[in-house]
Amino acid sequence: MLNHMNEEDHRQLSALVSPERCSSGESNLRLHARDQSRHPAIKPEVVIWPESSAEVAAVLRYAHQRRLPVTGWGAGSSLEGNPIPVRGGIVLSFARMNRILEVRETDFQVDVQPGVIYKEMNHQLRHTGLFFPPDPGAGATIGGMIANNASGTRTVRYGSTKDYVQRLTVALAGGEVIEIGNRASKSSSGFDLLHLFVGSEGMLGLVTQATLRLAAIQEEIAWAVAAFPTVQAASQAVQYIIRSGIDPAAVELMAPECVELMNRFKNFGLAVSPTLFIEMHGPTRQQLAESMEIVREICEQEQSQEFRPGLDRAEKDRLLEARYAMAEMIQQAHPEQSRIVIDVAVPISAYTEMIQFARQAALREAEITAYTFGHAGDGNIHLVVGTEKKNAKGWQAIDALNHRVVTKALALGGTATGEHGVGIGKRKFMPAEHGASLEWMKKIKQLFDPHGILNPGKMFPE
Ligand SMILES: Cc1cc2nc3c(=O)[nH]c(=O)nc-3n(C[C@H](O)[C@H](O)[C@H](O)COP(=O)(O)OP(=O)(O)OC[C@H]3O[C@@H](n4cnc5c(N)ncnc54)[C@H](O)[C@@H]3O)c2cc1C
Repeated sequence: MLNHMNEEDHRQLSALVSPERCSSGESNLRLHARDQSRHPAIKPEVVIWPESSAEVAAVLRYAHQRRLPVTGWGAGSSLEGNPIPVRGGIVLSFARMNRILEVRETDFQVDVQPGVIYKEMNHQLRHTGLFFPPDPGAGATIGGMIANNASGTRTVRYGSTKDYVQRLTVALAGGEVIEIGNRASKSSSGFDLLHLFVGSEGMLGLVTQATLRLAAIQEEIAWAVAAFPTVQAASQAVQYIIRSGIDPAAVELMAPECVELMNRFKNFGLAVSPTLFIEMHGPTRQQLAESMEIVREICEQEQSQEFRPGLDRAEKDRLLEARYAMAEMIQQAHPEQSRIVIDVAVPISAYTEMIQFARQAALREAEITAYTFGHAGDGNIHLVVGTEKKNAKGWQAIDALNHRVVTKALALGGTATGEHGVGIGKRKFMPAEHGASLEWMKKIKQLFDPHGILNPGKMFPE
């Protein structure tokens, strides 16, 4: 049983940090009541901004004794309700633990606090020629990315957050602080606790410091935009590009309705048909030109009607920014609607079947609008489906569609969530995806957090 806070709790907690970093003011509570999803807002009872591991541990120790819920907060950019404090209690915002502590260029490593925004970190690291590749696009923090195992456009080549976490400092539910992992590039020592915490959505402990692996920024980039007659042809080309072994840095698929938005809001003048955006990184222009030639041949084999290659970084950045602004453009196009993102991933060989199934299922629903795009190189699809906020029939159709698409992804050997995590929205699919192993996840949760104070109401079905 978890408790609600009383006046004594407020007094004790503000003494543990400092009164000005402990707020139950209405606007602060409201700012930490919802993420970027449409899950209902639920206010915490207090927001605390710790400045050190010791402060995080002290708050956790107190909350553990008093059975108060504690939810970690990065930038609140999640899409499945992951940081919503559904049982009230304490939100610990890491906004003030936002320092880059040490860069070890020769080891390709950086030590950071969890509230660092990954884009700002990459900006500050630019002079070193190194970067942290996972790129969810939104203003995500390192702590939130670790907790959600975030990924993005470059994951097809560089991997997701879990591939870049080497060492973590974690404050556990009872207030103990542990160090996990090491700074070596490989290790076969003991159970892999590091990867138990990555993707655990702040339910096993709170990350207070991380050592991240960095990658070298490649000297040259090349990109191409390829238009296809059908989504199937485009997704078939993706499969052949991945199989060719040329290691693209991004392979993004946009259905015609998404291309139309890019033209309308960003003046791209692209052909309105299924389109691939392909990015390559490499040490020399010549090597990239050769790889791009292979990509062109594959696309032409799959009936690409238009193949536009380019070497200009600024134009590539403009395309990528437009791709990231897709959610914003959909909102602009349908201001009266609310929407969800159905985010599933399947093995690459099943991508064509998955995308065809999802689009046909969405098109059958008259009450909803649907936009399909995705990190195609990873077999990841985003189906953004919306309807008017009060259209009960529309929301019923969206729920049923979500169910059908996830069930199909699981039947194809995939997952209910490619990158957005489970949060509240994907809890109901956990038994179907994990079967008996879900019970072992619950046992692990019980071991680390016996009173269930950390981010309650997430991941496991009620
Ligand atoms: C427009 C848009 C596009 C997006 N595109 C992508 C994408 O391409 N790929 C992708 O992966 N995601 C994407 N996302 C989702 C989101 O940005 C990521 O999941 C991101 O990692 C969340 O980071 P955050 O800092 O906002 O964390 P929050 O949303 O604040 O929190 C996320 C989770 O982390 C926990 N948490 C926060 N800090 C800590 C900590 N220090 N220790 C332990 N737990 C903690 C929270 O309790 C919560 O469970 C997108 C979101 C938007 C709005």
